[in-house]
Amino acid sequence: MVDVQAGARAPRVAVVPGDGIGQEVIAEGVRLIQALAPDVELEWFDLGAERYLRDKVTLPDDVFARWRDEFDAVFLGALGDPRVPSNVHAKDILLGSRFRLDLFINQRPIQLLDPRRCPLKGKGPDDVNMMVFRENTEDLYTGVGGTFKEGTADEVAQELCIATRKGVERIVRAAFAWARAHGKTRVCMSDKSNAMRFTGGLWQRVFKAVAAEYPEIQASHLYVDVLAMEMVRAPERFEVIVTSNLFGDIITDLGAILQGGIGLACSGNIHPGRVSLFEPVHGSAPDIAGKGIANPMATFLTAGQLLSHLGRPALEAQIQAAVRGALLADEVTPELGGTLSTRAVADAVLGRL
Ligand code: ATP
Repeated sequence: MVDVQAGARAPRVAVVPGDGIGQEVIAEGVRLIQALAPDVELEWFDLGAERYLRDKVTLPDDVFARWRDEFDAVFLGALGDPRVPSNVHAKDILLGSRFRLDLFINQRPIQLLDPRRCPLKGKGPDDVNMMVFRENTEDLYTGVGGTFKEGTADEVAQELCIATRKGVERIVRAAFAWARAHGKTRVCMSDKSNAMRFTGGLWQRVFKAVAAEYPEIQASHLYVDVLAMEMVRAPERFEVIVTSNLFGDIITDLGAILQGGIGLACSGNIHPGRVSLFEPVHGSAPDIAGKGIANPMATFLTAGQLLSHLGRPALEAQIQAAVRGALLADEVTPELGGTLSTRAVADAVLGRL
């Protein structure tokens, strides 16, 4: 990948609308990128359930190689279709990219934009504003394991939890570096080291060692069960959270609800300096697909993360402000209590930019 930030060439983004509402929200996300950053080159990739059913293709090697070598970011809608119950295309495209592109950071902002959307009594935007760094390549997601005597009364199943020093150190470093760069003063690491002694022990040792390099940042630790309680009781305690893959998966869904719902949650799968993949957190939502009522706001916030990755953080801030404006004006889709269509919400946000 050429260094876009050095201005060597225009940034290049691979667009994968995918399945269900992914196609509807990405269409609006693309409109937003074209409006705010017209120099960004976009190329569409026909990948998803439809393509899989037609050609039995998930993520072809040549496409993967082009993303890795020629692009700066992938903008993905959603993957999942009832006609592909194995979900093999989603696994290949999403998990395949995460592992093969080594996208070790899953960065999920938990930011409440409209106080009325928070289910917690008396909590506002200043209270719910944290960045979660979820490790994205190890833990219980490597597929290492197996079954023995499957289908019998003596069946055994195993799933291996993998933590490496390299893997833990780079995500912990990413969290501290981000905190320092953004003027944050608190980083909380969460694990379950009271029960998981070996992987938890590694997280503990690495976290302490890296924290020592950031004396201005207050480093704390919570077991993940306590973290879940504290995120609900006192979310204002948290600025930056760093945790493992599985725990990160769970607490960011909790966070999505604190910030107003899955239609507002964005995420980046990042390897700094390399092609990285950005996607709204929600899935393909077959129940509302094709109705034109999917909330495009998560995709807009995701586009903001993507543009920030391309070296344009000011655009991300503008997008957040425009989404906040539309939320406060109740210009929202039905799942947030409104009556507007995907297109109308997109117009409402774009009109503010
Ligand atoms: P999967 O994640 O396996 O693809 P899914 O799409 O059904 O499954 P979620 O994304 O978690 O799962 O969504 C759950 C439900 O929330 C959806 O069925 C839909 O009703 C609603 N939903 C999700 N995203 C949106 C959105 N952007 N706008 C409006 N409603 C949404």
